[in-house]
Amino acid sequence: MKEIECPNCGAVFEAKEPECPYCGHINPMGAEAKFLRDLEKTRKDMDQVDDEARKAYGTEIKKGAKSTAKTVLIVGLIVLLIIGGFILLEKTVFNYDYKGNYADELAWQHERFIEYDIMLDGGEYEKLMEAIATDGEKHDVWSWERYDEFMEIADELWGDPVKDAEDESE
Ligand SMILES: [Zn+2]
Repeated sequence: MKEIECPNCGAVFEAKEPECPYCGHINPMGAEAKFLRDLEKTRKDMDQVDDEARKAYGTEIKKGAKSTAKTVLIVGLIVLLIIGGFILLEKTVFNYDYKGNYADELAWQHERFIEYDIMLDGGEYEKLMEAIATDGEKHDVWSWERYDEFMEIADELWGDPVKDAEDESE
């Protein structure tokens, strides 16, 4: 271990000391060495902090990916629920004015449209027209497969009110 003599008080001490341990006189070489040692220590500390920060950041990214996946899943489910709700609403409310539920309506149509067919095939046009007008207030009579077919017959028999009005005004 290198030793030097203090130029101020003449004491002998290790050359790496930044100042004389007896009188406090500065030792330029020792001070510079200490500065470099401190600098190296700081650099190592900062590397360590950097590593820890990087690790913490990586963990955060993983957590973020997990919560993003969760969010996507939840949003997806909500969207599906909304779409499902709209489909249900459209089937039960928007398209039809009838009271009661959709299954009841389908059952009603299944029975009633057979009677319409019989009336149409039997030429009971007036009776059929009355039935459709009355049923149409509560039921989806327009779903009857032969509705258009009957309307053409009705036009020929009783005329088209809209067409007749136009003809009269000409
Ligand atoms: Zn000294």
